[in-house]
Amino acid sequence: MEKRAELYRGKAKSVYATDDADRLVLLFRNDTSAFDGKKVEQLERKGAVNNKFNAFIMEKLEAAGVPTQFDRLLSDTECLVKKLEMIPVECVVRNYTAGSLVRRLGIEEGRELVPPTFELFLKNDALGDPFINESHVISFGWANAEQLARMKALSVKVNEVLSALFSDAGLLLVDFKLEFGLFHGEIVLGDEFSPDGCRLWDKETRKKMDKDRFRQGLGDVIEAYEEVAVRLGVPL
Ligand code: ADP
Ligand code: UDP
Repeated sequence: MEKRAELYRGKAKSVYATDDADRLVLLFRNDTSAFDGKKVEQLERKGAVNNKFNAFIMEKLEAAGVPTQFDRLLSDTECLVKKLEMIPVECVVRNYTAGSLVRRLGIEEGRELVPPTFELFLKNDALGDPFINESHVISFGWANAEQLARMKALSVKVNEVLSALFSDAGLLLVDFKLEFGLFHGEIVLGDEFSPDGCRLWDKETRKKMDKDRFRQGLGDVIEAYEEVAVRLGVPL
């Protein structure tokens, strides 16, 4: 496999073409952003931690029957993935109230949601990733009804698998964001799963162990990511 031109430089990752038209290289950088790119910092070791964290989670999900983009790790900060035609929608599952849900509905943080909620946001930084509903996805053609149903079912499945995995490591999976794409017509999980795109709280103390440490200026951001990785058994 040969790495070729940079196709896209995102806020946290860079995407490269390869000599295989069906494969991309994802490079996880140390850049950390919040508030739709308005707060940006470099956090030492983050690229490597998230790359290895993501590989570990994607392999667990694949083993549980969730089709993922993940092929293999290439280096500390790079992995080889299937090239997906990305669907510009973020799927968010919540087990406890936090973040934008708390702000939008004016409720307290940390209330358990039974059953978990499923929300959709349009991936558009300029508009602040607006909240959308299922009919928008279909009417604007971002995905068809069947694809959307599959994205929702896979999001629920991811929640079941990962809630159990994190619970065994003494962590609550509060919420998370997924992005899906199409690979030869099939819905496949893309992008990444790392503490950058989910909320994780210590079960006993409810200490935040995710990107909220960066958003809220709580400090020890990467130290918390590394502690989560160690608790899960991710080889760093
Ligand atoms: P952002 O675009 O939000 O700044 P990143 O820095 O994480 O995010 O950039 C990664 C980009 O690559 C995102 O736009 C994401 O949708 C896209 N992407 C992730 N996985 C794949 C994949 N398997 N195939 C094609 N594109 C992907
Ligand atoms: N999230 C993400 N990228 C986004 C927006 C949200 O990864 O562009 C994740 C976020 O880390 C959290 C979940 O999705 O785990 C729900 O985020 P929320 O809607 O509460 O928005 P936030 O307040 O985090 O911006």
